[in-house]
Amino acid sequence: MVDTAPSSVTKPATKAAGKPTPGAGPVSVPAAAFARTRAAYRSGRTRPLSWRADQLRGLQALVREGEDELLHAMADDFGKPRVEAWLADLAPVAAEAAHLRRNLHRWARPRLSWPGIANLPGSAWSVPEPLGTVLVISPWNYPVNLALVPLAAALAAGNAAVVKPSELTPATSATLARLVPRYLDDEAVVVVEGAVDVATELLAQPFDHIFFTGSTSVGRTVMAAAATHLASVTLELGGKSPVIVAADADLDVAAKRVAWGKLLNAGQTCIAPDYVLVERSVADAFVDRVVSAIGALQGPDPAATRTRIVNERHVERLSGLLKSAGGTVATGGGVDVGERVVEPTVVVDPDLGSPLMQDEIFGPILPVVRVDSVDEAMTFVNERPKPLALYVFSGSRATGRRVVDGTTAGGVCLNHVVYHFIAPELPFGGVGPSGMGAYHGRAGFEELSHRKAVVRRGIWPDLPFAYPPYDERKERMIRRFM
Ligand code: NAD
Repeated sequence: MVDTAPSSVTKPATKAAGKPTPGAGPVSVPAAAFARTRAAYRSGRTRPLSWRADQLRGLQALVREGEDELLHAMADDFGKPRVEAWLADLAPVAAEAAHLRRNLHRWARPRLSWPGIANLPGSAWSVPEPLGTVLVISPWNYPVNLALVPLAAALAAGNAAVVKPSELTPATSATLARLVPRYLDDEAVVVVEGAVDVATELLAQPFDHIFFTGSTSVGRTVMAAAATHLASVTLELGGKSPVIVAADADLDVAAKRVAWGKLLNAGQTCIAPDYVLVERSVADAFVDRVVSAIGALQGPDPAATRTRIVNERHVERLSGLLKSAGGTVATGGGVDVGERVVEPTVVVDPDLGSPLMQDEIFGPILPVVRVDSVDEAMTFVNERPKPLALYVFSGSRATGRRVVDGTTAGGVCLNHVVYHFIAPELPFGGVGPSGMGAYHGRAGFEELSHRKAVVRRGIWPDLPFAYPPYDERKERMIRRFM
């Protein structure tokens, strides 16, 4: 259902639109949200560093004081356990906002450049300026993190923003719509709840930048819509993130970490290990250890700590992936549509042409494929769409480096999974079908800024040879100095 009157936009609808023009139709919520935030941006209020720092402080307070409400909402939406929700959704927002606030003044300074001989005497510098009004569209799987961390970058860079959280986690989206205007400048930041029709209407507004996190197929729609207004885009998309396990890896640690990454959020993580390519000589031993690790990580009462699959449609989708996978099920395989549960499942030697090995899994199913060597694993990865994340377990640093140098991925984590996401100054983003652009730390500040180039020339000397009409003497001078 589309909520066309969330608390954070009931006010703007009248304020932004001003007096209704006789004969004009009613102003839609997306159009009003855009008009309100653009007016705030154009007023100049979002540019001062003090305003930006205040908004980042507001975000920190929002996740601190709104913690209970947000944790309850995520539990209502899909049973996200408190610890996981705090660790993966709330803590990263507070950490990112604090990091941006601490460094903002330094990053916002002009950066001097060499102006070139032709510009002497003179100087050159570049300075980051806000892009303007930014649209943030976020998915449901980390519904607070993936709405508020991009917002933090947008605000740090001095933009106004409209945030459209996912309709698949309605309690969390409603909580965000309630909390944001309490903690942030409600002229410059508006949350608009709604589904695809609301997102489509937002995409029709001439935003300056669109920051989209979601599936690769919707990413294409977003980029096409951005082309209409030539809005720049950041696309944080999905795909299959492979794990390579070399024969010299510590199999206990590799199995435990892969199992952890697959169980986190019930596998509904964009950078979850999607499938494993393991060297044949250690494949059986690795599978045994993954099965044990899954048992240990679930504890004696898995139902008590289990994140649900977000809706029945996704449970059916995962069940379909299992049915057509081929191979052997080493553990799990159970599906309960009513409870929205898919048991953590390991499928050994699946059919490589099956949807399980073609589509992003986004659930607690781990295919394990045997390969003859790390080189074969690298070829396997390179023949497929560029992944968002790539993981390598090996006892040899040289093997890790070889895989880093010989493959392409949005990011790589050696000897662990997912953890590259929390390195505060590593750019996070995909490449090709897994996305474009990056954020986190300075990368996010730069992504949401335009780096404006400035040259200042002296009035004197004003060399006559630089101006037409040209003759041979002037040409000689130009060739020498320009
Ligand atoms: P989704 O693409 O279905 O939806 C994401 C957002 O886009 C939602 O707010 C939704 O309302 C909106 N949307 C859906 N269809 C739309 C359309 N036709 N036009 C405009 N907007 C539309 O994705 P999802 O199911 O919410 O999330 C899962 C996907 O997101 C997975 O592919 C996952 O890998 C990816 N993801 C990527 C990252 C990352 O950082 N790269 C993070 C989380 C999730």
